[in-house]
Amino acid sequence: EDLDVDVAIVGAGGAGLAAAVKASEAGKSVVILEQMPIIGGNTNKATGGMNVAGTKYQEADGIKDDKQTWFDDTMKGGKNLNDPKLLQTLVDNAPDALKWLNDMGAGLTKVTLSGGQTNPRIHQPADGSPVGPVIVEVLSNKLKELNTPILLNTTADNLIKKDGAIVGVKATDKNRYSFTVNAKSVILATGGFGANAEMVIKYNKDLKGFSTTNHAGAIGLGIVMAEKVGADLVDMDQIQIHPTTDPETGYLFTEGLRGDGAILVNKEGKRFTNELLTRDVVSKNILAQADKVAYLVVNQEMADENASLAGYIKDGYATKGETIEALGKTAGIDSSTFASTLKNYTKYVKNKKDEEFDRVHLTQTLEQGPYYIIPVTPGIHHTMGGLKIDTKTHVLDKQGNIIKGLYAAGEVTGGVHGGNRIGGNAVADIIVFGRIAGETSAIEIK
Ligand code: ADP
Repeated sequence: EDLDVDVAIVGAGGAGLAAAVKASEAGKSVVILEQMPIIGGNTNKATGGMNVAGTKYQEADGIKDDKQTWFDDTMKGGKNLNDPKLLQTLVDNAPDALKWLNDMGAGLTKVTLSGGQTNPRIHQPADGSPVGPVIVEVLSNKLKELNTPILLNTTADNLIKKDGAIVGVKATDKNRYSFTVNAKSVILATGGFGANAEMVIKYNKDLKGFSTTNHAGAIGLGIVMAEKVGADLVDMDQIQIHPTTDPETGYLFTEGLRGDGAILVNKEGKRFTNELLTRDVVSKNILAQADKVAYLVVNQEMADENASLAGYIKDGYATKGETIEALGKTAGIDSSTFASTLKNYTKYVKNKKDEEFDRVHLTQTLEQGPYYIIPVTPGIHHTMGGLKIDTKTHVLDKQGNIIKGLYAAGEVTGGVHGGNRIGGNAVADIIVFGRIAGETSAIEIK
């Protein structure tokens, strides 16, 4: 059955849900189409948190941070490919976005660090548990309150264009019937294409054979749909591999683990990198090790304080040893080298100086067992490129003109992250730009 709404939103990940809340609160009729049987997309898999600079939570921890430092870290991490206007919009609007989430009960109050950041600024749940499911839950609860429908198992196939403007989408419902959603505005919040190996290789042939951390629906349909109506694409070859994923399944271990004190060693039992460099660099350094494998090293003390880590251990990703020597033997890592690596590292932390790799944030001495190691290898994680948008989330065509009636937010867009995404910036991106898309699409309805 065909539908008539003010705002049609494609995709029920963080960006789409945030947009839906805003458009609904503006008094518009809204529908969300979601191809999968569940909501949440890649957002469900977000383990880290949300970057925001200059918050009261940072202040409470004695962390001095400001927007400019965050902006500069992101430009540098993104190899200056980032669109500075989009990035400025992100940085400026993130404090409000965090407050908005926390006012709804998200509880993102714990501050930690990800690679490439000058200061701890990732905000995550107080117990260190994964951030994504929390965000999806508070937003979907809000949508229930607002009576905004989400149609599951419903795929948007094509955008409908009339007299130069987007006026709806053609979709396929759960019984495989085609129907039309007539809409005054359409928001694409379809996420990235990290699970579409063919599309990944089309844009970056170096990435053949990598596993992916993405959910099965990250196949780039929104990008293809928008391309057909003339949308411009940016940075499509910029695809991030995340350094620490399970070699067999591609399951991702949060970067926050290194931020909280984990180190990386290779099969010889040696550290080989500053663990807190940007994802692209740490990935490259792991790929240079034997078998392209490294081991995250943590101890019980860390596991007791970090719910994500406790989960990895419970789920069987980690190997335990009472001592480093014992652990090295079980795991086939050179035990004596491994033990002296740890000993040296403890010394570096105590002296506040990493004599080998200049790691700056030295928080855990890792002096006390039992220890755990988790084998890791890089996997495809985030597609930085996508639809070209302006700071109001209008989708632009190849001449730089707005495509009327079409908006986009989240991983489907390109430009915010440039050539490498900093951990914690995706959650900020989807909430900030999701909110803007919801507001703008509602305001601009005549
Ligand atoms: P973001 O982080 O940008 O919000 P996510 O990956 O979290 O992106 O969410 C995107 C959602 O969009 C996923 O749940 C995905 O299944 C959904 N999606 C992608 N393409 C379509 C489509 N053509 N029709 C309906 N849903 C789609």
